[in-house]
Amino acid sequence: MPIETTDSTDTTDIFDTFDIVGSIESIESIDSIDEELSWQETALCAQTGPEFFFPAPGASTREAKQLCGACEGRVECLEYALRHDEKFGVWGGLSEKERHRLKLRRA
Ligand code: SF4
Repeated sequence: MPIETTDSTDTTDIFDTFDIVGSIESIESIDSIDEELSWQETALCAQTGPEFFFPAPGASTREAKQLCGACEGRVECLEYALRHDEKFGVWGGLSEKERHRLKLRRA
């Protein structure tokens, strides 16, 4: 014998609604990620090897910083690195130590 429920809500509708809401939130978060990373489209470091931007400890960061100085997305890149607490490499023309100092100054 089938079980009768007093609630007329079809659970399929509820799950469909959650899927739609979840999809909308996913699209919005993808859009914000795209926006947050749009500076990477003109990133000069993408045209060089990672060894420039992630040098071995004690190695020079001068070449990386020179490239950053000519990069259109420098400010956004630096802000991204600060926001995401990037620990390694040159981002937006600053080394790890320089970013750390900048964060302390801003605090
Ligand atoms: S600022 Fe420097 S690290 Fe950032 S995207 Fe430009 S070249 Fe790359």
